[in-house]
Amino acid sequence: MKSPSPLLVFSLSAAVATAVLTAVTHAADPAPSPLAAAQKATTPQQALDRLVAGNTRFTTGATTKRDFGAEVRNSAPGQYPIASFVACLDSRTSPDYIFDLGVGQAFVARVAGNFVNEDILGSLEFAHKAAGAKLIVVFGHSACGAVKGACDDVKLGNLTAALAKIRPAVAAVKDDGTPRNSKNSAFVEHVAAANVRLAVQQIREKSPVLREMLDAGQIGLIGGMYDLNTGKVTFYPDTAVNVKAPAQ
Ligand SMILES: [Zn+2]
Repeated sequence: MKSPSPLLVFSLSAAVATAVLTAVTHAADPAPSPLAAAQKATTPQQALDRLVAGNTRFTTGATTKRDFGAEVRNSAPGQYPIASFVACLDSRTSPDYIFDLGVGQAFVARVAGNFVNEDILGSLEFAHKAAGAKLIVVFGHSACGAVKGACDDVKLGNLTAALAKIRPAVAAVKDDGTPRNSKNSAFVEHVAAANVRLAVQQIREKSPVLREMLDAGQIGLIGGMYDLNTGKVTFYPDTAVNVKAPAQ
């Protein structure tokens, strides 16, 4: 078989080199999004500080006046949120409102009783490992219906399985001789707090991907509680990883 002429070999090599060069040039071609650069430059602590400031604006009636149309247009090419949330389904606890965030600024996983499971951990892994968010916030809220349901061991359709995921938090609250049911509001609040701490712990234990990022200081993690009466989120210092909870 006749070997290809030296000229043909050269032409093919040049074509390949050109194609590679073109690909490299084009990859670097579109200017990096300012949103991407801002996300990359944000530390976990800065992300928490921004959330705390946003919650203060929320509780003081000083929320940002937003042009949602502009936010939709600006975020359409790509999303670069600084934080992710695990929050309750409760209609009064939307992280976007509570922390005064706009379109494309938060990944939010919501489920009645703000627990984590495989699907939520997978979603958090996407938010942080694939999409670059810097801080995970798990927060419960006062007078949570799901927590009350777990306290009373309510059985109802698919809710039974969901509430079973909160039961370990019920068991974690020490018996102080007072009733261990939803009529005891102090008990309900203790279970809600234990439930947040459990989720924070499980994020570390059950997600090697997130644990590695936490251990490397690439992301932060913190738990807290939202007060339905005041709109304020109180963060738990003992749950904080790579961030410092605000003095409150
Ligand atoms: Zn709730």
